[in-house]
Amino acid sequence: MDVNTQCPRCAAKRNSIVRDGFFYRADDAKFVQRLKCKACGKKFSTATSKPTYRQKRRRINHTIHLTLSFGMSQRKIARLTRVNVKTVAARLVWQAQLSRKKNQHFVKQYIERYGPIATVQFDDLVTFEHTKYKPLSVPVAVVAGTRLPIAFGVASIPAFGHLAKKARERYGKRPDNSRAMRQSLFEQLVTVLPPTVHFETDGHKHYEELIKRYFPAATHTVYTSDRSAVVGQGELKKNTFDPLFTINHFLATLRDDINRLARRTWCTTKDPMRLSDHIDLMIDVFCDYLEQRWKRGKGVCPHKSDVVHA
Ligand SMILES: [Zn+2]
Repeated sequence: MDVNTQCPRCAAKRNSIVRDGFFYRADDAKFVQRLKCKACGKKFSTATSKPTYRQKRRRINHTIHLTLSFGMSQRKIARLTRVNVKTVAARLVWQAQLSRKKNQHFVKQYIERYGPIATVQFDDLVTFEHTKYKPLSVPVAVVAGTRLPIAFGVASIPAFGHLAKKARERYGKRPDNSRAMRQSLFEQLVTVLPPTVHFETDGHKHYEELIKRYFPAATHTVYTSDRSAVVGQGELKKNTFDPLFTINHFLATLRDDINRLARRTWCTTKDPMRLSDHIDLMIDVFCDYLEQRWKRGKGVCPHKSDVVHA
């Protein structure tokens, strides 16, 4: 029994909880300790407080988490793990909830270990829900050099360019939530970044406005974007040197790792919330990968790169 075990009903502490037999859980072939609260008589088990409580297919969780972040479609994962596609969809939501907390913690840990973040790169990735006539904007902020994602958001935007007129005809006026979303991102960033941080963005006017408002002491460099290369899903540029390489490389990784963000795929986002969940999941796996690299002394040393950019 865990020292932190407490009664789910009356929150009585460890010393008023006694063992009360076992039960066998066929799902992962484990014996689970039953418990009883002496104070209120509530019976429960060590499984009650676990995030996997009441799941019927525990063993697939890790596989689903990884494959969702390795560009596999939900239907393929359902076939691989031999569960219903609705189970996979449900686990995506479930896992995202855990990943979101883990990701926030990871950023905090990073700052504790390597000091305050010196340079941040910002950009928007554009994708769509169900049809190209309903685009979505995904603003993302990463640490320059180390590719550590700090914050992102998903917002609906009206169709633009040659699709704009037809989109209005078919689906009516589409709200533009991207400004509100970028603003809420900055509200998050204020809690994480030091006031003297350096920003690198493309020529988007709204970034400039927000940086001035939320980080009056910060510096800001604007880069104009170049033509895209064929590799890198349109995010990597043709030029030999791209000053916004970190963010563009991360956006390209997103497109490759999250199957619904890939170009020319028949997997599309149906619900912007699920896209947000999926990105959280992918960032979780990606941060694990970054940490492994740093531990082996590979990749960009986070500390050094921050010093270079400062
Ligand atoms: Zn109790």
